[in-house]
Amino acid sequence: MYPSNFEYMRPKTLEEAIELISSMEGSRVLAGGQSLLSMMKLRIFEPSSLIDIGFIPELKHVKLEDKHKVRIGAMVNHHEILDNPIVRENLPMLSSTAEKIADLQVRNRGTIGGSICEADPAADYLPTLMALNAKVHLKSKSEERSLDIEEFIKGPFETEIQDGEILTEVEIEKNTENFAVEKYARRKADFAVASVAASARLAKDGKVEYIRVAIGATSEGPKRLKDIESSIIGKTSAQLDLGQIIQNTISKIDMISDLHGGSEYRKYVLSGMLMRMLESLITKGRQR
Ligand SMILES: Cc1cc2nc3c(=O)[nH]c(=O)nc-3n(C[C@H](O)[C@H](O)[C@H](O)COP(=O)(O)OP(=O)(O)OC[C@H]3O[C@@H](n4cnc5c(N)ncnc54)[C@H](O)[C@@H]3O)c2cc1C
Repeated sequence: MYPSNFEYMRPKTLEEAIELISSMEGSRVLAGGQSLLSMMKLRIFEPSSLIDIGFIPELKHVKLEDKHKVRIGAMVNHHEILDNPIVRENLPMLSSTAEKIADLQVRNRGTIGGSICEADPAADYLPTLMALNAKVHLKSKSEERSLDIEEFIKGPFETEIQDGEILTEVEIEKNTENFAVEKYARRKADFAVASVAASARLAKDGKVEYIRVAIGATSEGPKRLKDIESSIIGKTSAQLDLGQIIQNTISKIDMISDLHGGSEYRKYVLSGMLMRMLESLITKGRQR
């Protein structure tokens, strides 16, 4: 199907884009168009105008601030994230995640800002950004604010973004802890049937000093598994019944059920992934 008629605008600065999005009723931000154009062709969205933010230099930066804070502009695409030396060195978990997204074509057009604003429950970045405790920065005509990614994502395809706001950048503290990022999909370039992102640090005595675990493809949207984290922290692998801890948590989660996999099948896959990844992280330390 063809999309309904719309106007196309190409602002050159962020200020101009914000002015347009707040003054034109029924308009929508266009990033790489990887999700939005399909939605428009299906007539799920019929915006009166598209504000293309792809020509705004202020949204394309990757910076390391004070040697510990990485700032990534909303329009940085997935390929740049997997290839950028600042991201690779300071956030290897994020570049490893970008590598798993779709295929080369999608990675060259899809953006980190677009993926976050789309809030697809099976999107690959979201569990990783939760495990990394990322913040998103939003700007409108009247205010600038920042929110933790966990607050920003309200549920499947639902975020805290307000009319007139643009997501400008993602801020993440440097994190070079041991990590594991995995996605199980039916075919290589597909969305995840189940996905896990976890990062951990062991003390010299083998006790888990730090752990964060998040999953994707649940029917509530991506989520951190805080029960698992609190059961593991401060213990050695020998003191843990990991299988039981995982089952207790998984049994309470409602996974997506669709043609790619029913809820029970996804739970089964997720349990296996969590067992293997967490066991490796809390015993051997490093897994990539
Ligand atoms: C064939 C295919 C396979 C894919 N496979 C995967 C996969 O395996 N894993 C995965 O994680 N993703 C996958 N994706 C999604 C892809 O990675 C894109 O990130 C995602 O579709 C968003 O696309 P985009 O950046 O082009 O944003 P757009 O499609 O342009 O925008 C998406 C939505 O976000 C809004 N928006 C975008 N940027 C901003 C902003 N800065 N501020 C405010 N609102 C904004 C738009 O208005 C729109 O509502 C796939 C997509 C396709 C087409």
